[in-house]
Amino acid sequence: MARARANRDKERELDLTRPVSVWRSKDLLEGQPAQSLTVILRTVGCRWNRCTMCGYAGEGAPASASDLIAQFGSALERSSPEVSVVKIYTSGSFLDPAEMPVQARDEILKRLERLAIKKLVVETRPEYITEQTVETCLSRLPTEFAIGLETANDLIRDKAIRKGFTFQDFAIASEVVHRQGGSIKAYLLLKPPLLSEGQAMRDAISSARAARSYSDILSLNLCNVQRNTVVERMWERGEYRPPWLWSAIEVLKSVPGPIVCDPVGAGTRRGPHNCGACDEGIAEAIRVHDLSQDITPLQKLDCQCKSTWKELMEAEEESFGAALF
Ligand code: SF4
Ligand SMILES: [Zn+2]
Repeated sequence: MARARANRDKERELDLTRPVSVWRSKDLLEGQPAQSLTVILRTVGCRWNRCTMCGYAGEGAPASASDLIAQFGSALERSSPEVSVVKIYTSGSFLDPAEMPVQARDEILKRLERLAIKKLVVETRPEYITEQTVETCLSRLPTEFAIGLETANDLIRDKAIRKGFTFQDFAIASEVVHRQGGSIKAYLLLKPPLLSEGQAMRDAISSARAARSYSDILSLNLCNVQRNTVVERMWERGEYRPPWLWSAIEVLKSVPGPIVCDPVGAGTRRGPHNCGACDEGIAEAIRVHDLSQDITPLQKLDCQCKSTWKELMEAEEESFGAALF
C-alpha cells in the first residue's frame, strides 16, 4: 500500500511529457567533430535491471507511447540546424518494445529522418537486436547501436556485473547490425566490482582488443558508484573504490582507436578519481582525446599521485593473491 502510494506520488511529481535531460555537445562523425544532441528519455526502465553497478532502475516511470513522443518533441526544441548526431538514451534498451513502444519508436525515427540527421545513436541490450528492429532504424537513417558489453570476459560479465548475456550474444548482434550496414559501439566498464585496480585495467585493455573486430567504436565507461546498487553497498563497506583516472589513461593509451570516454563524475568520491589535485586536468585531457584521438597529450600527463597509484596496484596484486578472475 505504502509503496503504491509512493509510486503515485512519484508519478504526480514527474512530468512524463518532459525528457529526463537533454543537452548539446560535440561528437565524432566519420572521424570529425560534429554537433550532437543527447536526449535522455524517461521510460518504464530496463527490463533486465540486475547489473551490479546500475542504478537506473530507480529512474523508471510508466511513460506511454504518447508521453515518449511528447518527451522527444520537447527535446527537439533544444536542437539546432547544426546538429547532425542525435543520441537517444533510455536508461535501458531503445529496441525493447516493452520499454519503448513501437509506435513511439517509429514516430521518433520518422521525425529524425525528416530532420535529415546524419547519425542516430541508441542503446540496447543484444537480445533486442533482430533483423527487423535493425531494419526499422536503418531504413530511416544511419544508426549506431550501442551495447553494454562491459568486458570480453564472460566470467566477469556474469559473476561481477550480472549482465546476463555472453560475448557470443554480443558478437551475433554485431553481425546482424553490420550485415545491414549499421554500426556498433561497445561500452566497456573500467572497474567492475570484485576486481583489483590492476585486474580491472588489464581486463579493459584485453576486452577492447577482443571487442575491436566487432565494434566500429569503443566507449570506455569509468564506473561511478550509483545509488541503490550492489556497488554502492560494497563502497559503503570499503570494499570498492571507483577506478583511478590513471587507469583510464593507461587503457586509452594502450588501445588503438577509435575509443571514446566520458569521465562522468571525475574527481568525486563516487566517481573515477586520483588525488584531487590532478583530476580536473586529467578529465579535460580525456575529453580532448575524445575528439582528437591523439594520445600524445595523454603521455605527458603527470602528478605525484601517479607513483601512489602504481604502488597501490602492486600492493593489491600481493594481497589479492590468487586473482579472482
Ligand atoms: S546496465 Fe543496462 S542492462 Fe544492466 S540493468 Fe542497467 S540499463 Fe539494464
Ligand atoms: Zn594527482
